[in-house]
Amino acid sequence: MQNKTIKEDFHMHCRFSTDSHASPAAMCEAAYAKGLTAICFTDHQDLGFDDPNWFRFDPEAYFRELEPLKRAWAGRLEVHIGVELGLIPDDPRLAREAEALVRDYPWEYVIGSTHQIPVEIDGCRCLVDPASPGEACRSWYHFASVTELMSVYYETVLKNLEQFTLYDTLGHLDYMLRYAPKELAPDRFEDHAAQIDRILQTAIRKGVALEVNTGGLYKGTGKTNPEDRIIRRYLALGGKMLRYGADAHRPEHVGFGFDALPEYDLQK
Ligand SMILES: [Zn+2]
Ligand SMILES: [Zn+2]
Repeated sequence: MQNKTIKEDFHMHCRFSTDSHASPAAMCEAAYAKGLTAICFTDHQDLGFDDPNWFRFDPEAYFRELEPLKRAWAGRLEVHIGVELGLIPDDPRLAREAEALVRDYPWEYVIGSTHQIPVEIDGCRCLVDPASPGEACRSWYHFASVTELMSVYYETVLKNLEQFTLYDTLGHLDYMLRYAPKELAPDRFEDHAAQIDRILQTAIRKGVALEVNTGGLYKGTGKTNPEDRIIRRYLALGGKMLRYGADAHRPEHVGFGFDALPEYDLQK
């Protein structure tokens, strides 16, 4: 059965993200052509990378470019201006930086994402982003299994949820699974059940929505992030706030896979 109910894509990137070349206008046109009624740009502001320009952009330039687009599309497509914050826990300096960034600009929507995890390399605690090809080998192979890595990932997500109060939605909860190398033993979901429950309960208590991110569907994992059983667990625990996003970095991925999603029942 085709899902025709999801008309909003609240997670997309354009050329303000260092991993996208898309023009903002092209993203709007793609959304309109797909029949969406609202979108939100959520370009990357990742804290704590060694290179201070990596995954950062100038918010002034961002608003200057997107605000006219918002006005131009009014009445046909709601265009919102948001941000995807890449968070790192246990670092007061970065926490202050994130708070200032959220406070100082009129973001309409903030996604909190965990892209980097702490890994012990040669006795030093390093933060690595396993999605980055240069860092993949530095990070994955310090873990004996995907299960071991995902435990660290979920622990980091929970800390980011507990230590920050500045975001609306928890981005792509089990995201790290997208990049799991096939050589490692696969993840054992059951091992994380208690951790995942704590994350979902914390999100519910803090009024943070859960994102259903379809990026994995065009990256070939065949699953949303988080996967269906986590979304159903969230609903079973009483969660009622789902936000949908395709994490498009190119126009053709806007709204990707929305029509294939289950119609989750938020009324129970
Ligand atoms: Zn992300
Ligand atoms: Zn994203």
